[in-house]
Amino acid sequence: MITDLRSDTVTRPSPGMLDAIMHAKTGDDVYKEDPTVNELEQRMSALFGMDDALFFPSGSMANQAAIKLHTNPGEQLICDKWAHVYHYEGGGVSFNSGVSCKLVDGDRGMITASQVEESINPPDFYHSPLTSLVCLENTTNKGGGACYELETIKEISKVCDKYGLGLHLDGARLMNAVIAKKQQPIEFGKYADTISVCFSKGLGAPLGTVLVGKKGIMENAIRVRKVLGGGMRQVGFMAAAGIYALDNNVERLEEDHRRAKEISEVLRSRPYINKVEPTETNIVIFYLAERVSEENFISDLQRKNILISNMGHGKLRIVTHLDYTEDMHAHFLEVLQNYE
Ligand SMILES: *Cc1c(COP(=O)(O)O)cnc(C)c1O
Repeated sequence: MITDLRSDTVTRPSPGMLDAIMHAKTGDDVYKEDPTVNELEQRMSALFGMDDALFFPSGSMANQAAIKLHTNPGEQLICDKWAHVYHYEGGGVSFNSGVSCKLVDGDRGMITASQVEESINPPDFYHSPLTSLVCLENTTNKGGGACYELETIKEISKVCDKYGLGLHLDGARLMNAVIAKKQQPIEFGKYADTISVCFSKGLGAPLGTVLVGKKGIMENAIRVRKVLGGGMRQVGFMAAAGIYALDNNVERLEEDHRRAKEISEVLRSRPYINKVEPTETNIVIFYLAERVSEENFISDLQRKNILISNMGHGKLRIVTHLDYTEDMHAHFLEVLQNYE
């Protein structure tokens, strides 16, 4: 039995989810005739109090579509230096939208309203790219699952309104934040213009991300999705997994968070660890003491059938998820306790 903590994307559909998939009513979603996709989109727009929602095959595509909808070629977006849209989407920002990124030196992947304001190029200074979009990430991936305070997002949205910028929220793991901070999804819908939410992460579905957004911006979303190759046909089978996840896998994220915190505490107490980032949700980021190499640590764990991620520059990552059981957890804590 492998304990795979590299990511929360490694989960397999549970028997209940498989059952929902097998019994889904489907149709051609490119014609907007898939009742299950339509239902998932309606549920998501209602949940976030947004006008519109669109189902995408991946979080990257939903983010890339949002960036395309908010910008014109030559313009610039503002994001944290560790942002997924900048680091992990294959350069799509420039490839798909012809847009550059102004990187902000945030705290664990989170940026502030004053950092945003300082990063805006003066609109009448035609030498520099026109700033048109701010992208936030919640929870942050490279930042170790950190969660924004709603107040910060509200302040950033005020700056966006003042300067006429769009606000996109990469909410790949937004439900983790909602559970950890006891927030309401609708509050995020008040401040962001578009939000992407992944079903393929902690929610445990095989694939799928829904982009929710305001009417004006979402009007062209279906065309952009088509251009990116994301129009899918009988994809209600996957939307059924998303609906199942909304009904069954949101509250339980609490368990993933508890286990991540317990891992984090054990790591913090061990002499072979240099630093553990604060653990707020299901991601634990940590650094080894100088005498231990990342390669050796990872392969020692691997020999015990435990997999974790190396994020580079000394950063190691553990992600808990719904296929990480209490038994695996007890065993992993013991391994960490006894490691020298
Ligand atoms: C996983 C993730 C995405 C989307 O990734 P896909 O693999 O394309 O689904 C987007 N943003 C963040 C922060 C993520 O962690």
